Amino acid sequence: MIFTQNTKLKASSTNGWTIFGFGLEPVRTCPFAGSCRRICYARKGLYRTHLKACKARWDSNLALTKRPEGFTIIGDEISRLERNAIRRSKRLAIRIHTEGDFYDISYACSWIETARRFPNVLFYAYTKSHKMLSSIHHIPANLNIIASEGGKHDALLSSWSGPVARVVDEYSGFNLQGSDDDKVAMLAKSGVVEIIKH
Ligand code: SF4
Repeated sequence: MIFTQNTKLKASSTNGWTIFGFGLEPVRTCPFAGSCRRICYARKGLYRTHLKACKARWDSNLALTKRPEGFTIIGDEISRLERNAIRRSKRLAIRIHTEGDFYDISYACSWIETARRFPNVLFYAYTKSHKMLSSIHHIPANLNIIASEGGKHDALLSSWSGPVARVVDEYSGFNLQGSDDDKVAMLAKSGVVEIIKH
């Protein structure tokens, strides 16, 4: 299965949205991860319990992204998910990277092209690869990039115009609260989205 729904994406599939995610292996595909490696959510809890199955899915997805026809296959699956969503009068959103990150520029461009191909699907991604992505012009409006703290280029986040994700021990009360509902980050255009550390 290329796209899956974890507990959070299932719980967030409300208000007319259905949300699926695409995962890659954490750390291995995160060239700009910094301090987040130490507290990476995708190396704990259920991920650790089901590591063998997760690893098989991550390896399969990574191999797919490297195949010449990989994004055609990914696009076919998005078409199928979109048709299913429309049949149920819902709109499809795809979280790029329930785990993992944009591991190089060519891979990131493949997702940008995919977002262009599906203008009625909303794509979003939390990323520490924001410096690399900022060199790409014309990111389509249906791809929301949420730059995340904890990476190698945190110093550049003050000039990031889009939303920023921050892992916190508890909500500050001043920012968006994104732990329970992924739509908070998915739909954010700016500001800080706080995620409680787990
Ligand atoms: S970028 Fe995300 S998935 Fe990768 S190591 Fe950091 S927290 Fe984990």
